[in-house]
Amino acid sequence: MESRTETHCPYCAFQCGMTLVREETADGPRLTVHSRDFPTNRGGLCRKGWTAADLLTSPERLTTPLMRDRKDGPLRPVLWDAALDRIAGTIRATQEAHGPAAVGVFGGGGMTNEKSYALGKFARVGLGTPNIDYNGRFCMASAAAAGIKAFGLDRGLPFPLEDIEKADVILLVGGNPAESLPVMMQYFEEQKRRGGRLIVVDPRLTPTAALASLHLQITPGTDGALGNGLLNVLIQQGHLDLDYIARRTTGFDEVRRTVAAYWPDRVERITGIPATRITEAARMLGTAKSVMILTARGPEQQSSGVDNTLSFINLALALGQVGKPHGGFGTLTGQGNGQGGREHGQKADQLPGYRKLDNPEHRAHAAAIWGVEESSLPMPGLSACELLAALGRADPELPSIRVLLVMASNIAVSAPDVSRVQRGLRALDLLVVSDIFLSETAAMADIVLPISQWAEEEGTMTNMEGRVQLRRRATCQPDGVRTDLQVIKAIADRLGRGAYFSDDPRAVFEELRRASAGGVADYAGITWERVATEDGVFWPCPDTGHAGTPRLFAESFPTPNGKARFNPVNHRASAEEPDQFYPLYLTTGRVLSQYQSGAQTRRVAALTDAEPGAFVEIHPGMARNHGIRNGDRVRLVTRRGDATLTARLVTTIRMDTVFVPFHWGGEGCANLLTNPALDPVSRIPEFKVCAVRVERADAT
Ligand code: SF4
Repeated sequence: MESRTETHCPYCAFQCGMTLVREETADGPRLTVHSRDFPTNRGGLCRKGWTAADLLTSPERLTTPLMRDRKDGPLRPVLWDAALDRIAGTIRATQEAHGPAAVGVFGGGGMTNEKSYALGKFARVGLGTPNIDYNGRFCMASAAAAGIKAFGLDRGLPFPLEDIEKADVILLVGGNPAESLPVMMQYFEEQKRRGGRLIVVDPRLTPTAALASLHLQITPGTDGALGNGLLNVLIQQGHLDLDYIARRTTGFDEVRRTVAAYWPDRVERITGIPATRITEAARMLGTAKSVMILTARGPEQQSSGVDNTLSFINLALALGQVGKPHGGFGTLTGQGNGQGGREHGQKADQLPGYRKLDNPEHRAHAAAIWGVEESSLPMPGLSACELLAALGRADPELPSIRVLLVMASNIAVSAPDVSRVQRGLRALDLLVVSDIFLSETAAMADIVLPISQWAEEEGTMTNMEGRVQLRRRATCQPDGVRTDLQVIKAIADRLGRGAYFSDDPRAVFEELRRASAGGVADYAGITWERVATEDGVFWPCPDTGHAGTPRLFAESFPTPNGKARFNPVNHRASAEEPDQFYPLYLTTGRVLSQYQSGAQTRRVAALTDAEPGAFVEIHPGMARNHGIRNGDRVRLVTRRGDATLTARLVTTIRMDTVFVPFHWGGEGCANLLTNPALDPVSRIPEFKVCAVRVERADAT
């Protein structure tokens, strides 16, 4: 017997449609992934998607709660009731002794919309703590803040994916979809086939940059200067859309004055990109009919991430492209629900529907939906890095988290300056981690809760276009496993707050629709039935008769006067620049065969065979200076710590830069090295640039 279920990939923000086939065999159920013709991936899947069924049958799957009796004791299997009773008891005792804020919650951008919503509500209504944030703070926070500043709204792509292939010129800044969103490449390839041109800004000649008409091999940390420099050249060349600027924007004059200081020769000195190439790029942008500007984590994961992003938004506005077909500005989301995960209240300052926790009207709306007093809702809490810095803190003058609940996140690998985070995790009174595998973070926990995964439960996900999609249940979960929604409700029950929570995803989605109604991310008109039958529905969708909104900003912007805002920004040096002790730039990123912290993909044999371990890319010229050969073990040292990795000598990277992928823990963990310096607005850490020294691992 065979069952076929149309669902979506568990990994990246492209959320490819796929069919999961379950066959009953003498050896038990056999699960296989098949392609299906969904509008976004058009039948395509990458190797991660093709092997996603392996997650469901992995022998490493957790199927029973684990608990340790004392900090240095082993994790042992326990019954659910024992684990949940201890969690609720410790939360109660901790909050009585230290206040509600001493309990923290850390979520993830891979969770369904329903879980993201329920977790945010659980923190505010179930625990009464302000201290909830999530790993999306590590990736999407700068783009989100910049989008809201400029457009009044944050949606990764405010236009449908097919616009990409019809754009005359695309400027892609700090993104490598060939490895991070592989199936998306069909859109860039089609754009090229139609005669379009692609400009890629990246310190590495990535597989994406190899497709480009022009590659600008930028010095890490200098993106904002490039954005300003391009705009200055466009102004000098007279390539602006003055009519659009007058009718649809405010604030251009101040930006014009600011970018006047960014002449090509000065921008060359800052960015390392030859002035002739900057001028050439500006000419391509200025003479094209339609221009699409896309940013990704390169410019965004910096201590000037918001300003960097704004410099490219200014460019798109000055060219009059935002809101026009086949042009505009967008940002490439990374995590599976990187879009939906940031809309429903998981963020430290946010309520569902992208409402603000410090806005009295927004608080009253959420309180009414939740059936609580507005005054009972906490104010905004600590953002992700600040929350992690407060773990187990002894200083009574500063915030301290004593108990931490973690869902869908592997912070013991993915957080910047991860040694410090690991010390904080060890100092907690109680660390609770829900996961499908014993990730590095789960291995440090006092209690581990085994939960169901993608094809074992139902839920909605929102892709990078704002298309809300249905992830269907295709197989049963193993005995002993519960859903995250059941975990949230079970803890709330024990805290006497269970009546506020449902563990039925459809009921949670219905509540989410009401909670989001009238907000910028309005899901009120999106039903599960529509999502299933219409191949997804784009938000905002205010009522069930509304078709959804694939293209935003065509007529106006959701700002008080309906106009987009220019924001003047200046180049700021990275928090840490190379010097005589740490003479190179370190930048981090992804590889094709792994995903995020690798907690899932490192357990899939075909993916681990393809990319077995951590490595560092070094230019051969630089390697020669250090006596390093291809395959040598090398040590990278920064002010935070050191990592030992295998050298991969490549001519595709700048001489002054080394690159480390962030998918591994242990001695090769990239985040042993990274700088937790934060952007002042988005609070995103500076993963993309810090100063590093390279040594042979056998050097004394
Ligand atoms: Fe899955 Fe992303 Fe690959 Fe599509 S591109 S199969 S969503 S990992």
